[in-house]
Amino acid sequence: KINPLNVLAVEVDSTSEARILPLTSGLADHLFAHDGQITKREVRAITLSALAPRRGELLWDIGAGSGSIGIEWMLAHPTMRAIAIEADPARAARIRRNGSACGVPGLAVVEGSAPQALAGLETPGAIFVGGGGSDTGVLETAIEALRAGGRLVANAVTLEMEALLLSRHASLGGELTRIALSRASPVGSMQAWRPAMPVTQWSWVK
Ligand code: SAH
Repeated sequence: KINPLNVLAVEVDSTSEARILPLTSGLADHLFAHDGQITKREVRAITLSALAPRRGELLWDIGAGSGSIGIEWMLAHPTMRAIAIEADPARAARIRRNGSACGVPGLAVVEGSAPQALAGLETPGAIFVGGGGSDTGVLETAIEALRAGGRLVANAVTLEMEALLLSRHASLGGELTRIALSRASPVGSMQAWRPAMPVTQWSWVK
């Protein structure tokens, strides 16, 4: 449970530990259990900014991985709602645990593959495509399902997914952004910039 100071109590190895969640999106990656498939902190903060949560809105987090995007969406305000759609059963189970551990047990999880798994879900005010975007029909279904005036944000790491986003941008407009982060890391006794794979982000208002 989150108390008014945003201090979250979690049980770790049967001893009680308190974690403190900062108020802005872009929480440290280690606050989410994950298997390496997670949108990294800085990219997540930019993604949440592009998704631009408004009170009471519903988000579809397609290819939710660890659930970090849907969780941060819900943390923005107590009225926020999110559905995490994830094809991998182990990750879907992890998303449920992460939701509870981060104080948003109301995060809904749909275990299944988009686009089939999207059928019948409530119309969203925003959609994030973090995985499965290059699977047939996923982008089309998301674009079709989005409420008029809603925001769609899709991140690409692979050239194949990037090509799909460039083509959507050419036909529908919106904004393309390239996020290229480097981290200082040791090289012998000195340091150098180690680049992460760049992320191409397409952001579009319906
Ligand atoms: N944004 C996530 C990371 C996403 S990794 C986070 O921050 O944790 C991409 C995820 O998409 C993987 O977990 C993969 O299993 C899932 N995925 C790939 N294709 C999918 C599809 N068609 N439907 C649902 N999930 C899919």
